Amino acid sequence: MEDCIFCKIIEGKIKSDIIFSDNDMIIFRDIHPQAKIHLLAVPKAHFPLIEEVAEDALIGRMLKTIASNKELLGLKHGYRIVINQKGEFGNDAGQEVMHLHIHILAGQKL
Ligand code: 5GP
Ligand code: ZN
Repeated sequence: MEDCIFCKIIEGKIKSDIIFSDNDMIIFRDIHPQAKIHLLAVPKAHFPLIEEVAEDALIGRMLKTIASNKELLGLKHGYRIVINQKGEFGNDAGQEVMHLHIHILAGQKL
């Protein structure tokens, strides 16, 4: 999608530190890390919010893929997953990028 920063990263138009890629998603390092390890798992298809994901099984598959790649992603001491979602009447969670993404935080006590 035009003017979406994560679509541009997926298309290779903006550089990022990509660690993992498959048919469903890419995983890259957050540019402003909130923990020693801060990754973003981003579906290759553009959806702003969870309720707009076209295929119900996608998010489950993404979570399973993260859990299956703990060694590669540096998650063997545990990790936290966060999904910020903007609401109809406000943005209490502070979602900045309107392309669904899963934050993965790890590498330290959280
Ligand atoms: P949100 O607040 O939408 O849940 O999280 C968006 C995240 O994307 C933020 O943690 C922010 O640091 C990250 N981010 C925004 N722009 C870029 C970028 O161009 N490259 C990378 N690697 N991360 C980005
Ligand atoms: Zn997008």
